[in-house]
Amino acid sequence: MRLQGIGASDGIGIGTAVRFLEENLDFSNIVSAGTEAEKLRLQTAIQNFRDVTTDMAEQVRNKLGDKDAEILTGQLMMLEDPYLSAELNQTIEKGQCAEAAVYEILTNYANLFSSMEDSLMQQRATDVIDLRTRLLKTLLGKQDLDYSQLPHNCVLLLHELTPSIAVGLPIERVAAIVTEVGGRTSHAAILARSLQLPAVLGVSGVLHQVKDQETLVVDGTEGIVILSPEETVLQSYQEKLLHYRQELELLSVYRNRKTQDADGNCVTLLCNIGSVQEAQIAQENGAEGIGLFRTEFLFMDRASAPTEEEQYEAYAAVSNIFQGKEVIVRTLDIGGDKGIPYFHMDAEENPFLGYRAIRYCLDHTDLYKTQLRALLRASSRHHNLKIMVPFVTSIEELRSAKQLLNECKKELSAQNIPYDAEIPLGIMVETPAAVQIADLLAQEADFFSIGTNDLTQYTLAVDRGNPKVSNLYTPLHPAVLRSICSVVEAAQNAHIPVGMCGEAAADPRLVPLLLFWGLEEFSVSISSLLQIRKEIGTWKISQAAALTKTVMAMGNTHDIVTYLDTQLSSR
Ligand code: PEP
Ligand code: MG
Repeated sequence: MRLQGIGASDGIGIGTAVRFLEENLDFSNIVSAGTEAEKLRLQTAIQNFRDVTTDMAEQVRNKLGDKDAEILTGQLMMLEDPYLSAELNQTIEKGQCAEAAVYEILTNYANLFSSMEDSLMQQRATDVIDLRTRLLKTLLGKQDLDYSQLPHNCVLLLHELTPSIAVGLPIERVAAIVTEVGGRTSHAAILARSLQLPAVLGVSGVLHQVKDQETLVVDGTEGIVILSPEETVLQSYQEKLLHYRQELELLSVYRNRKTQDADGNCVTLLCNIGSVQEAQIAQENGAEGIGLFRTEFLFMDRASAPTEEEQYEAYAAVSNIFQGKEVIVRTLDIGGDKGIPYFHMDAEENPFLGYRAIRYCLDHTDLYKTQLRALLRASSRHHNLKIMVPFVTSIEELRSAKQLLNECKKELSAQNIPYDAEIPLGIMVETPAAVQIADLLAQEADFFSIGTNDLTQYTLAVDRGNPKVSNLYTPLHPAVLRSICSVVEAAQNAHIPVGMCGEAAADPRLVPLLLFWGLEEFSVSISSLLQIRKEIGTWKISQAAALTKTVMAMGNTHDIVTYLDTQLSSR
């Protein structure tokens, strides 16, 4: 059987299916088997939980260090609390089953912690809820999601790949990823590309169509998943895989080349990253700097926000890897499809239009200033860091960010801590509002970077992660193309640098248009770097100009896509 989804990360993966099913933790049908029997069930479950958690904590400590093991050791300590045991037992004595006692008492604790002002206490609420879920799973005999048990060469099937799941994946064992929801520019897709894992997203119902252990072929370029392929099909995909690897090998000649068009004009080819490790890989793959460091990934897959010191170390490390080259660090861009549990953000009707990114940061100035201070300190050595504000919709937001940056500078000066006093402060142009006032923003921003992932979503009113409308989501829509063109022009008029860090910068069909308009910086994920360097090298500006004029005279996406596809395939 063959299923069609959205090809979200190129490449071919062949392996055995492993499904991550959402656990049903409903215990409403369970009745108490009597006080003593329920107490015994609870004790046995707690003992099992202790054994498993002690082992897990040990593994995490060895792999990641003490800090990351703390959440697990904290849960073990909580279970030692005699008051907690007494409360659980009392609830059972009132006739409840062990599951109900765990649910009721731990929910009370979580509510108590989350009502406190102190952010550390609020974070404990998350830990208690995690403890509640894990204890309930133990009582109900459900397995915990354990990455270390993943077989080699597996194809992971999930309802949704959240950034926090992706960050912890043992990628050396994973051949490909398939999900039921998500689009090409959802953060799951972006992560899959930076991990260089083939991925097909938005295959609705796949978790119920595939059996565990079944052999799967995943074509991340075409968006196809083949279940239990026949021998001939399997062979042809094995050949395709080989061919794909050979092509990657051929591209490696571009690793140490300059990025220039066929007339010899240079542009800068940067990389998008989310961690220090990725910065290292980007550098080894020939990136000329970093055009987007998504710092929110430093905040994921952990129990509390990174301290100023931890952030400083990360920013300084990336600055060091790319000394002599620029590193654009984007300040925290949470909300939308990037939730961080310990921030306890309220659920919203429209998270992409809600309390996210700079809006959240300007309301949480302690959090924001911690990040800005860490960035300033990290800028002192190589003077190559630039700070970028996401999701700007007004000039006031840019001014407020600038004011907080100035406050941080003053505080550091008073403490004699060095920093780059000239550190540039720029913005992402990723909202239609920012496009419309680009001329005004360009007077006060030190640089622009066009975020086409969000710009496309907001301009076309199409959710970037919803497979049902993914056919409508394209930066090749005339409205998006006109926006890009006008933003580049606004930056040029104000003499500030302009780049693009949205996924459209890695779309070969857009390369001639961007070159002709005079985009100076292309920032793409690691897996697209060499392909785009090669593509840029094929264009003479005169050819790019002719093609752009034809495209911009077209009124609809379909004509544009057909024209560009034919032009590019006939070259
Ligand atoms: C964008 O919106 O284009 C962008 C690069 O940022 P993100 O994908 O993280 O929203
Ligand atoms: Mg964005």
